[in-house]
Amino acid sequence: MALLDGVYPVEQVLIGTYSGGGDMLVRQYGEVSGAERALFFIGQIHGDESGAGDAIRLMEASIEGRGLPGNTLVYLLNPANRSGRRLIDGIDPNRDFLDRRLSETRAIASFCERLAARYRSVLIVSAHQYNDRNRGTLRQGFVFPLYELTGVGRQKIAGKAGGAIISMSALLDYTTPAESEAVARQFADLTGFTYEAMWKNEMYPGELMYFVSRLGAHVSMIEFEIPESERSNIALWRDSFARFVQIVIR
Ligand SMILES: [Zn+2]
Repeated sequence: MALLDGVYPVEQVLIGTYSGGGDMLVRQYGEVSGAERALFFIGQIHGDESGAGDAIRLMEASIEGRGLPGNTLVYLLNPANRSGRRLIDGIDPNRDFLDRRLSETRAIASFCERLAARYRSVLIVSAHQYNDRNRGTLRQGFVFPLYELTGVGRQKIAGKAGGAIISMSALLDYTTPAESEAVARQFADLTGFTYEAMWKNEMYPGELMYFVSRLGAHVSMIEFEIPESERSNIALWRDSFARFVQIVIR
């Protein structure tokens, strides 16, 4: 498959408005003509997780450095939440995908739906930063595959989580099954991180992951949780995210 050379992005797509004003612009890499597959990278949906923004910037730099297959489009939104805070107007954007009270969540949801309707294969990647408050829920250095969702409703629900965490020392990735397990395995192989199955006990229906899981079997999602403590290791980050891009853009 031919690689498209050159420096992207080709254009910016207006998908909505930030709370408090300002255009939400998604950068597009690649050409729509002939595209069958779309990847959508989302950084910092929690505004206080600047490490997540750094991660997406490193992925973007890696994409610019290697070009794209002609059938693939890449979109990036970073930051998704520019408030500088986890919450926007007291609402958690990553719990708002049922109610969609925030303009940010409405914009992201609509754009995901557009991608799902148009392309044969869609992969959504959302980066978070992992904080002390939830440190106990993750183990570092592992790659976990597979996520299955059970139940509906607005309360926290029990779920079988087969879905992935990717970890460089901890990229949590819970995912819809289509692509996630393969990606998790490849990422583990390339980075040397351990890969094992994992079950997550709970999730929130308002999460982006939950919303995405209902867009169809051709839509997958990977979520990173990046530990604050690893931010200083820029070489590890750059290498790991370059490898991640190498896996998902093929
Ligand atoms: Zn977060």
